[in-house]
Amino acid sequence: MWKTVGYYNGEMGPLEEMKVPMGDRALYFGDGIYEATCVANRVPFALDDHLDRMYNSLRLLEIPFKKDRDWMKAELQKVIDAAEDSPIHFLYWQISRGVCPRNHPFPKDVEPTLMAYVKPHTMKPMDKPYKLISLEDTRFKLCNIKTLNLIPSVLANQRAVEHGCDEAVLHRGSRVTECAHSNISILKDGVLRTAPTDELILPGITRKHLLALARENGIPTDETPFSMVELMNADEIIVTSSSALCMMVESIDGIPVGGKDRKRLKLLQDAYLAKFQRETAK
Ligand code: PLP
Repeated sequence: MWKTVGYYNGEMGPLEEMKVPMGDRALYFGDGIYEATCVANRVPFALDDHLDRMYNSLRLLEIPFKKDRDWMKAELQKVIDAAEDSPIHFLYWQISRGVCPRNHPFPKDVEPTLMAYVKPHTMKPMDKPYKLISLEDTRFKLCNIKTLNLIPSVLANQRAVEHGCDEAVLHRGSRVTECAHSNISILKDGVLRTAPTDELILPGITRKHLLALARENGIPTDETPFSMVELMNADEIIVTSSSALCMMVESIDGIPVGGKDRKRLKLLQDAYLAKFQRETAK
């Protein structure tokens, strides 16, 4: 067992000692897709949802990955089970188009590669609000695919850190899309509103669960785009991701926001945490 486990095409070891071949197309082109989720009691949360999105991303990038869902589950479980105990682990995996000499077109007869790691993780307390910075969304129009090409998100997150913020909220013109590595939703007049799943956002698993939990709890939902002005005037703002679940927001660009519908916000956060605990119980 290791504290952090690395995996590459069936080989496992301590993450810091693992090496990958120089020909992996992930290194040159970001030519691959990834997924990540939290693990409690060695049970990966919402794994089927992540595998659904993984196979969809592979299909959209035309990566001919042949392994089925049962094989994927067994392989990821091996990585989880090789980790030392921790209350929560973080599981990450990526599939690239394969290893071959660098050349833009797809290689022929090359097997995709699977890489993964597991490390101890601490979830942020949901009652500690996020500070956001707003930035123009400079990403390409394949944001619905969870590709490895993350440079605009890396730069946006760096700007957030430099401004003492937790995340960057991105907009195309006035339209809010999502955050650098999270989706964003608002509560306004008792309705949960979030951007539709088009090519401008990643269809987040946490976003999907939040919408379902809202409906189950009598909160109407609305999947139409909203503007920066509507964001600034929202009753509450919720940032969702697999690594931090549902975080509330207290400021954007240093201006106080939200704080006007704590009851519904707390109901959704509690419902989410309960779902996480129920579905990862031993
Ligand atoms: N949007 C982007 C751009 C992301 O990178 C992520 C997570 O990595 C999300 C949204 C949240 O998705 P999920 O809830 O599936 O983690």
